[in-house]
Amino acid sequence: MRIVLVGPPGAGKGTQAAYLAKNLAIPHISTGDLFRANISQGTPLGQKAQEYMRAGQLVPDEVTIGMAKDRMHQPDAENGFLLDGFPRNLAQAEALDEILKADGLKLDAVLDLEVPEDEVVKRIAGRRICRKDSSHVFHAIYNQPAAEGVCDTCGGELYQREDDSEETVRKRLEVYHSETEPIIDYYKAQGLVVTISALGKVAEVTQRAMDALPARD
Ligand code: AMP
Repeated sequence: MRIVLVGPPGAGKGTQAAYLAKNLAIPHISTGDLFRANISQGTPLGQKAQEYMRAGQLVPDEVTIGMAKDRMHQPDAENGFLLDGFPRNLAQAEALDEILKADGLKLDAVLDLEVPEDEVVKRIAGRRICRKDSSHVFHAIYNQPAAEGVCDTCGGELYQREDDSEETVRKRLEVYHSETEPIIDYYKAQGLVVTISALGKVAEVTQRAMDALPARD
């Protein structure tokens, strides 16, 4: 299965992607996580990405598309993948089609996570992420860890993402509406879009997604 996950920041893409990837036995590929890993390792790519991320803007396509392509060509992605945060604009969506076409492949589905805007801001403001594994996500109010600041799953330190400040979240939402939302129509024209509500408990949303996705080959 080759799936793209779309939805505004705070829709729970990262959280859902981790569960869905496990259920479907495919790797979870998050361009945001790849950028953050490059930043913490101090690579040239990370240095380039950092200023854009801090400002809540998209990292330029020439950097992003190459990085995503390399990751999709890793051996663990041979039988499928779940893309989280890529593509994020029409040029990236077209580039993805070309990359897949060159390998004789195509997408199976685009899962669109819907969530009201006021909920998004609430979710992001309280979001806390594990330094050891970014798929371990908590919330200061809705999904508290047993001990403050400590990941229940692995004991890693929980932190707030630098770009989760209210001001940057508003910018990221603006970018989502103007640049990313148009890809939903692009994929609707290909008959690939499955829309579900991202409200409710994490496990309920995962189940909703599993029910909505096309049956596996
Ligand atoms: P995320 O973790 O998906 O919320 O991404 C965090 C930030 O990384 C975004 O606000 C962008 O600055 C950058 N980013 C992640 N994915 C992409 C992408 N596909 N294109 C451009 N920038 C991206």
